[in-house]
Amino acid sequence: MSILFDRIALVGIGLIGSSLVRVVRRDGLARHVAVAARTQATLDKAVTLGLADSVSLDPAEAARDADLVVIATPLGAYAQVAEAIAPALKRGAIVTDVGSVKGSAIADLAPRLPGHVHLVPGHPVAGTEHSGPEAGFPELFQNRWTILTPAKDCDAAAVERVAELWRRCGSRIEIMDAEHHDKVLAITSHLPHLIAYTIVGTVTDLEQATQREVIKFAASGFRDFTRIAASDPVMWRDVFLTNREAVLEMLGRLTEDLARLQRAIRWGEGEVLQDLFTRTRAIRRGIIDAGQA
Ligand code: NAP
Repeated sequence: MSILFDRIALVGIGLIGSSLVRVVRRDGLARHVAVAARTQATLDKAVTLGLADSVSLDPAEAARDADLVVIATPLGAYAQVAEAIAPALKRGAIVTDVGSVKGSAIADLAPRLPGHVHLVPGHPVAGTEHSGPEAGFPELFQNRWTILTPAKDCDAAAVERVAELWRRCGSRIEIMDAEHHDKVLAITSHLPHLIAYTIVGTVTDLEQATQREVIKFAASGFRDFTRIAASDPVMWRDVFLTNREAVLEMLGRLTEDLARLQRAIRWGEGEVLQDLFTRTRAIRRGIIDAGQA
């Protein structure tokens, strides 16, 4: 495999950052990988796992002379990271990220970065409920979509270089507007997480005897929610705070639909329930046919 970037800097080396670096290392996509994180413990793990040629607690030190800087921290840290790296970025460097919400990523990054760098925001639509550098694995992005949301006047060559990096990870690329991305993800990812957090939260309020049975009989449906609700609390706090409008819009629709179902159950309207469950089954089949199961 050929080298794509001379020096790549990762700010944040958790599940997503470390999965990306594992591909970069495996396939020799960069000559030097510089890593920054918030704590020394994480940097030590990155070194032990062979994920970094150099490490620093200072994002600017990692970003200095980098051809590509990948921001892979929770969204709440973006403004602070952008301010730290801005003075260190070399002319023509590409800055990208992996954040789950794109409108706020751009709002926090774009005004803080110098005009001589190219910002190519990205979001690999792939993940697990685990976090930290040891949670990553190189196949994470295989056959998954990576969405890029560059500004209309962004340098096309820079966008292509970031797209090529993700293709080397096995991803398929889609380019879209940040606002559209945030709406689509609000319904496909953020709302399902909110529902899982709610259901699992409700169980913690039940009395002890019922709780024990919920755990015993979890395989009847609850188990899948617990996996999603085990996702990283800081990351998901930031997703809901930064994609507020789109999530509230989708939550409003869901609440209306739930009320309709509640009514159908109350009045014994079996055909309403069956119609809905038939339509939802077809969606599941569509996902399987698209290879996204
Ligand atoms: P993670 O496993 O929790 O890792 C976060 C990393 O960011 C850690 O290395 C952490 O360092 C570092 N960090 C936090 N604050 C920092 C700061 N102020 N300066 C420098 N480094 C900092 O998180 P993740 O799951 O990889 O998520 C990272 C990003 O990917 C998020 O923006 C998320 O929205 C996005 N994303 C996640 C998923 C998913 O399923 N997890 C999927 C797609 C996209 P320490 O360990 O030292 O604190």
